[in-house]
Amino acid sequence: MTDPFDLEHIWHPYTSMLNPLPTFKVKRAYGATIELEDGRTLVDGMSSWWCAIHGYNHLELNKAVADQLQNMAHIMFGGLTHDPAIELGKLLLKITPPSLDKIFYADSGSVAVEVALKMAVQYWAALNQPAKTNFITTRSGYHGDTWNAMSVCDPVTGMHQIFGTSLPNRIFVPAPQSRFDGEWNPHDIQQLKQQIEQHHHTIAALIIEPIVQGAGGMRFYHPEYLRQAKALCEQHNLLLIFDEIATGFGRTGKMFAWEHAQVEPDIMCIGKGLTGGYMTLSATLTTKQVAESISRGEAGVFMHGPTFMANPLACAVALRSTQLLVEQDWQGNIQRIEKILAEQLTDLAQLDHVADVRVLGAIGVVELTSNVDMKTLQQQFVERGIWVRPFGKLVYVMPPYVITDDELHYLLAQMSEVVKNMQGVNANVLA
Ligand code: PMP
Repeated sequence: MTDPFDLEHIWHPYTSMLNPLPTFKVKRAYGATIELEDGRTLVDGMSSWWCAIHGYNHLELNKAVADQLQNMAHIMFGGLTHDPAIELGKLLLKITPPSLDKIFYADSGSVAVEVALKMAVQYWAALNQPAKTNFITTRSGYHGDTWNAMSVCDPVTGMHQIFGTSLPNRIFVPAPQSRFDGEWNPHDIQQLKQQIEQHHHTIAALIIEPIVQGAGGMRFYHPEYLRQAKALCEQHNLLLIFDEIATGFGRTGKMFAWEHAQVEPDIMCIGKGLTGGYMTLSATLTTKQVAESISRGEAGVFMHGPTFMANPLACAVALRSTQLLVEQDWQGNIQRIEKILAEQLTDLAQLDHVADVRVLGAIGVVELTSNVDMKTLQQQFVERGIWVRPFGKLVYVMPPYVITDDELHYLLAQMSEVVKNMQGVNANVLA
């Protein structure tokens, strides 16, 4: 089933080259369906890692790419500009926090995070505070795989040990514990407060995923954490960076997750769903004040300029994807998905080997008591006609927003069966 060339020569994400996990060859994908080369079809529960919000092979998005292709696939952004970047920018400024005013287009989520971190350092350098170069963040975070992005990922699951002293030392505080839908526990903010009070002279910014910690554990935390974190940043001269790469474009039930807390960041990273999953593009947005301060600094410019910055094809499809989202009753649609996720997943919490079930917007998470065997579980999901890729103790879904009620019911019923069967008889699926 796994392609022999692929198996022998092509690296897949986080995969051994000695003992690679099986891969399933995809022939095509449309709507919320993935069609394998052997003819099997799978209902997609992953949106290709949060991206494909409108599903696959969307006629309007295909057209946006095809139309743009008639003009140009790419053009350098140094000294040149184009409508796709401009029109996308106008729309992004309408849907992101009002205080954000300047947009830097980058290639991927990780690069958007690098750009955000660099902005923060250049900002303080420009304000004659060159000692403010470090970052503070919470545990269980995930911000990407490039060097500095990795340095602010959770130090355990982010594999800091492997890279050792080659990674810059960041300041970590415990992950927020108060649940999104629970009581706020004031103790939650204490460590952050203490560390900021102690180290603010050397900290450029706090970086955090608002409300949902994604790849670091799929945790949903209380909005009060963000409100108090923002107050601490203001009090002690730290910039606040929101990584909305996973949470953006409606996924949590708000267009962006900051809205749950009504707290605006100084810098915000977006990506993933930006292009509807068609191609890689991200953006780092910031305030007029941050951008202008950087520009008044010694360098006089922001020091970054990727080759594929604001790629016209990517901007054109991002524009159409974002228009498609805002033109529809996307809130109503996310609520529809949320309701079905809650109805069908909540009962799993009663199983002994299930530690927690949580749902927010179009994200449904089943947290088990032990790590899953990804290989076995993935195989079982595929045999049942669904695409779900678990990791660690988590079996979770974030389906494309176009998923129909029937498809979603099917996806969750099959996923639930696999989770239920893990008990007792199939104890070997738990590593
Ligand atoms: N930040 C967050 C919150 C993410 O979820 C991800 C991707 N999983 C990234 C950054 C990195 O994005 P990319 O994989 O596009 O580099």
